[in-house]
Amino acid sequence: MLGRVIFFSGCLAAGALLGFWLDEYWPEYDAVPIGLVLAAAIWIVLDSARASQFLVWLRRDRMADGGPKSGVWGEFTDRVRRMLRERERQTKESQARLQDFLSALQASPNGVMLLDGEARIEWCNQTAAAHFGLDPQRDLMQTIGNLVRDPGFVSYLAARNFETSLTMPGRDSTPSHPVTLSVQLHRYGDGRKLLLSRDITALDQAEAMRRDFVANVSHEIRTPLTVLAGFVETLQTLNLDESERQQYLALMAQQADRMQTLVSDLLTLSKLEGSVPPGLETRVAVPAMMRQLKNDALALSHVMGAAGDTDHQFAFECAFDGYLAGAPSELLSALGNLISNAVRYTPSDGRISVSVRQRTDGCLVFSVADTGPGIAAEHLGRLTERFYRVDRSRSRETGGTGLGLAIVKHVAQRHGAILSIESTVGKGSVFSLIFPGSRVVPTAALADADTVAGSLSVLQDVPASAAIANSNPG
Ligand code: ADP
Repeated sequence: MLGRVIFFSGCLAAGALLGFWLDEYWPEYDAVPIGLVLAAAIWIVLDSARASQFLVWLRRDRMADGGPKSGVWGEFTDRVRRMLRERERQTKESQARLQDFLSALQASPNGVMLLDGEARIEWCNQTAAAHFGLDPQRDLMQTIGNLVRDPGFVSYLAARNFETSLTMPGRDSTPSHPVTLSVQLHRYGDGRKLLLSRDITALDQAEAMRRDFVANVSHEIRTPLTVLAGFVETLQTLNLDESERQQYLALMAQQADRMQTLVSDLLTLSKLEGSVPPGLETRVAVPAMMRQLKNDALALSHVMGAAGDTDHQFAFECAFDGYLAGAPSELLSALGNLISNAVRYTPSDGRISVSVRQRTDGCLVFSVADTGPGIAAEHLGRLTERFYRVDRSRSRETGGTGLGLAIVKHVAQRHGAILSIESTVGKGSVFSLIFPGSRVVPTAALADADTVAGSLSVLQDVPASAAIANSNPG
């Protein structure tokens, strides 16, 4: 500002000097005031030129260069330029922050939608778009009520009570592939709304499975309980002779056994679900386990023969001499269940072949093949569901709980194994458990390890005894 005053004063001084000088030539005029006015006018013209240079610069889109360089107008230009640069930096920063924020919302596994006061879509992430079948670009500023026509959603929106969430079918929901959404609106700002949606299909299915499971267990326990209660009442009220009493007591024992087996299978399942998967420290000797399985199979066939005249032909083949890493009791339980099913569902004179061999890729394959009734293709995918039975009456007659294959599936999963089922109706079935090579230890490898490490106490302690220790899964 001082420079401006000095420059202006300088101009006036120059004007006054010019007046003095002109006075000598034109004494008839008073030239000093004229010089002063002239100097002031020149200063105003120069200043206006610089002001308009500043205005021209200010009006330009790109204000990085140009504009007055010195004086007050130069300083103006400089300050405005700095101010604009700072504003630009701040805008960029807030835009970056907004982008980060939107990317975070975009990455959310839940649907997020911003609605304005008129319930028009201001923004939505891809998940929300997929949940409601919207196009995040095309449907912007469309009223949500016009796009999502589910009656439940329409009335939820109209009721304006957003305290609770709404459960509604997703856009891609079909009877064979139901999709369930949990949707809730939250008010914010000036009449705006935040719409959150969550895919709860898995949760819904788990809840339905839990309900079915409780209903199934209750049903399975109620049947033998009712029979038992009936016999107890008969024994209490009727005067029976000794042979009739013995007959009733035997039937009661049968029902009690059935309940015991059911509870034992339920406990096995719950243990399998609630414990950490077995590591590689414990191992079972495969040949010893096969011997144990053979004894159990013959015993079961014999019991069934006593009850219903079965006389199965068995073939056991153990083409692997080594160890399988895993929980011995679980492995015995899974393979025992497969063999027990073969025995129970294969009619008399049927053939049951149990084999174990190592594939060229290192996997160990246990197979149980029978010449039983076979299973129709439509049942195969559901066999490992709890309480799923193809032949309900045969299962019950032979003491089945409907949980055997569910246990096999869990044991397989915990050991990284695959359960494969091949079956032809009228011809028979082959159930195979395929264990990964990482769990297979051939005897040769053990001998090598023994030489190198010099200590194999765990391996030598566990297998032979464990293989025959626990054939009861419970
Ligand atoms: P269950 O205790 O009823 O045998 P599982 O879970 O072991 O229950 O088997 C489920 C169903 O699969 C059985 O009810 C039976 O209908 C069918 N199934 C299992 N194994 C065989 C088999 N080897 N041959 C024919 N059907 C079988």
